[in-house]
Amino acid sequence: MSFVSHMDEALAEARAAAARGEVPVGAVLVAPGGEVIARAGNRTRELRDPSAHAEMLVIRAACAAAGSERLPGHVLYVTLEPCAMCAAMIAAARIARVVYAAPDPKSGGVDHGARVFTHPQAHHAPEVLGGIGEEEAAALLRDFFAARRD
Ligand SMILES: [Zn+2]
Repeated sequence: MSFVSHMDEALAEARAAAARGEVPVGAVLVAPGGEVIARAGNRTRELRDPSAHAEMLVIRAACAAAGSERLPGHVLYVTLEPCAMCAAMIAAARIARVVYAAPDPKSGGVDHGARVFTHPQAHHAPEVLGGIGEEEAAALLRDFFAARRD
């Protein structure tokens, strides 16, 4: 299987989120044919919606575009390990593969914490690939939270 990373585009969304004062996490969703069908950064503050994580926004947009609540064969790129809420949504959407950049020991729900995909209750477990573009994604988060402490 050929591998064309779309993490740079997700990182661009993360930078745009930071510029809006949102926690810098970005995501893009790629259709089976390789086409990017949705891109978003966190908008929890702007939308006053605690579920407006980048992953949730791209999945909603992609489902609307696809006219389906399932996205088989799709690949999600996200700059931070998804939380448990987003992991449950990823499983429900039947996304084929999740590529994330920085691990999140504090709030992650894939390789940390709830490890949602390992539960028998998860109806679908995507292939997971972590650490792609990790340094830049982690630096964005570090700089964002450091600036807020000043
Ligand atoms: Zn999330």
